[in-house]
Amino acid sequence: MLLRRCPYVHCFHRCLTTVTGSSPQVQQPLNFLQGKRCNPSDSVGEFDLKCPATDETLRKVLSSGQRDVNEAVGQAKETFRSWSKLSGFERGSVLKKAANIMRDRLEEIARTEVLDCGKPIWEARYDVQGCADTIDYYGGLAARISGEFLPLPNGSFNYTVREALGVVGGVGAWNYPLQMASWKSSPALACGNTFVFKPSPFTPLTAVMLGEIYKEAGLPDGCYNVIQGETKTGQMITTHPGVAKMSFTGSEVTGSKIMEACAKDIKHVTLELGGKSPCIIFEDCNLDNAVTGAMLANFLSQGQVCSNGTRVFVHRSLMGPFLAKLVERTKRMKIGDPFDEDTTVGATISKEQFDKVMHYIEIAKKEGASVLCGGERVTPDPSLGGYFVSPCILVNCEDHMTVSREEVFGSVMSVLTFDTEEEVIARANNSEYGLAGGIFTNNLQRAYRVASALESGSLYINNYNVTPAGVPFGGYKKSGLGRENGPDTLDYYTQIKSVYVEMGDLEAPF
Ligand code: NAD
Repeated sequence: MLLRRCPYVHCFHRCLTTVTGSSPQVQQPLNFLQGKRCNPSDSVGEFDLKCPATDETLRKVLSSGQRDVNEAVGQAKETFRSWSKLSGFERGSVLKKAANIMRDRLEEIARTEVLDCGKPIWEARYDVQGCADTIDYYGGLAARISGEFLPLPNGSFNYTVREALGVVGGVGAWNYPLQMASWKSSPALACGNTFVFKPSPFTPLTAVMLGEIYKEAGLPDGCYNVIQGETKTGQMITTHPGVAKMSFTGSEVTGSKIMEACAKDIKHVTLELGGKSPCIIFEDCNLDNAVTGAMLANFLSQGQVCSNGTRVFVHRSLMGPFLAKLVERTKRMKIGDPFDEDTTVGATISKEQFDKVMHYIEIAKKEGASVLCGGERVTPDPSLGGYFVSPCILVNCEDHMTVSREEVFGSVMSVLTFDTEEEVIARANNSEYGLAGGIFTNNLQRAYRVASALESGSLYINNYNVTPAGVPFGGYKKSGLGRENGPDTLDYYTQIKSVYVEMGDLEAPF
């Protein structure tokens, strides 16, 4: 391994780190149409692409306009005719090949993801591995997409076919950029749909790399397209008459707008939205695992994780030892250059997000919470001009406080005390969100009982924030609609055709 300047961009002087054969991603065209990178032909504005670690502007990116969206949807519609006619096995073979190419390019993609979204390199590697597994998983399932045979009287029968919807539009957030492109495109393509994706303007890079990987794996041109842009471009995709379904990941406010826009044309919609999930630490847990779990539930990706268990309910009898271990371990987390191997806290995505996080901490203090540790801006190195925040633990929190009710999307853990199982279930469910939740206990019956009672789409017993390929993920209540990453997701990318076959002569009633 050579110690040399990061090749992604000239001004990225901080990246004097070990680079293992990467290629320049930043300055290339960032739309992906007809199997090729290209620039927009009809832009409706431009935005800065910034490196969160340094806060330097890497380049300007043009927001694609209606002509670009029309072209992407038009090509996707055209290719749908042939792609949807292939067998599931044929489509799956392409996806499985893509998964292996992604594994081969893991280091390069992970480094691009770090540059784009500021998370520590080990997390980015883990994310890319997970994306490859998900693409592989849907590659394997594609051949199993089938219908049912229903025998009827007198030899007649009915059969059902799961058919693709057409062109699927995707819009993503910035915290797991490659994961959003992969979790949406791979089940969509496995089912025979074609796909047009708009990444978040904060993180445009890796969705295009996925396009190149699919192309190398043999995906026909026009099946997977990337259109860069901001709100307007997202609206153009959502309202395009050629789009049959929207798959969205982002905030509840935007999710609601997308659902409203889709309602006008009766389009299918999957929504992966925000959360304010509970993480419950019972008195009969393994304390070390519970502390690890609470940290996993709050501090991955600078706390910018939708499923985070930010309301940590701790049994009163365990509060002292739990907090002592938690604070000691949290203070040891290393805030620094996300490219450094031992960094555990990287950079917040933007100044706006940093301001939002700090604002929530201030409100929490005003409403009576106390900061046990963290919650401050840190400059780990003078060359790192990004927004780094030390992981924050708040105590003396109450359910009614703003920080206990609203999604912060930063490393801010609210610790709350409880006395009984019945009480904590009621309090955990007292949220308009229902994305995830954690239960730490060594009592099997209790774990099962509480998991049954919690109103959340994804629950973890004695772990948190693990998303192996094949495990469904998605929310109850205002956290969303539909599921990603699991076998049932195929249902959300297909529609059922039911065919009745009469084997006898008809009795004429008239
Ligand atoms: P956001 O809603 O502001 O933006 C998400 C995307 O929507 C961006 O690409 C944006 O350009 C686009 N957009 C904005 N307005 C639009 C419109 N009217 N029509 C079409 N597209 C539009 O969200 P964000 O700040 O990027 O992400 C943070 C949010 O995402 C948090 O609430 C977080 O919980 C949520 N999130 C959820 C999941 C999940 O799986 N449930 C995963 C990651 C993030």
